Amino acid sequence: MTVRTPALTLELDGRIWRVGSEQYDLSIPLAFDEPQPTFFGATRAHEDVVRAGAFVGDVREGGSCNCSTYTLTPHCNGTHTECVGHVTRDRMSVRDACTAALHVALLVSVAPVAARETDESSDPEPAPSDMLVTRAALQAATNALAFPSFNALVVRTIPNVETKCTRDYDRQPAAFFSAEAIRWMVARGVEHLVTDLPSLDRANDRGRLTAHRLFWNLPPGAQTPTDDTRKNATVTELAFVPDTVRDGAYLLNVQVAPFAADAAPSRPILLSLQVV
Ligand SMILES: [Zn+2]
Repeated sequence: MTVRTPALTLELDGRIWRVGSEQYDLSIPLAFDEPQPTFFGATRAHEDVVRAGAFVGDVREGGSCNCSTYTLTPHCNGTHTECVGHVTRDRMSVRDACTAALHVALLVSVAPVAARETDESSDPEPAPSDMLVTRAALQAATNALAFPSFNALVVRTIPNVETKCTRDYDRQPAAFFSAEAIRWMVARGVEHLVTDLPSLDRANDRGRLTAHRLFWNLPPGAQTPTDDTRKNATVTELAFVPDTVRDGAYLLNVQVAPFAADAAPSRPILLSLQVV
């Protein structure tokens, strides 16, 4: 007997779309003590087998089951999602920020440009050779898709090399977002941003986190949320978007580990959308 997957459709902008049943996983598998991306000098994600009296939590060592303690730094070891609690004195949880299961997302591929080649900037001012993801590039890429209503954006940077999954970003610094790019996203209503970069901001930006603050609608340097703060907006960094997933419109489900913390490991899932 053949089990048929029921077709899921939705209406957007007056058109009917069919939701694909295949899921595209944008997370980097977090392999403990194995090659993994590293950022900001953090130690690698690490596994310790639990040992208690006669018990050893490793079947290979004669234990009755596997049981380990895992040590990780969500912001630095792999794909993670964060909320405004990343920069506030109040401890706010990313678990509380993710209130909706599905978002309408555009996936775009953009090539960062050297800061010396664009009028766009950030605070502090980038070095001439710093690479920026610009508003101009994002506008061009989203306009090409002609899809007006989206509240999530997935930004894949070019070149899209698999070494992103194990890159040491302290040795090979990453591109980051211009202030103009983030202001444009907020004006477009983007509430959930997924990117393969390790941070929206320059790793060493004198602690300003300009792009992060703009995205959450916090004034420069602010550490306290206001009524205008976008408390439900999330940023997912260190994702990886395989080349097989093409630019276009998708449904996005940001699956976040239920840590009561500003950031947690996550697994963004895309489902394709096709006009019926
Ligand atoms: Zn982060």
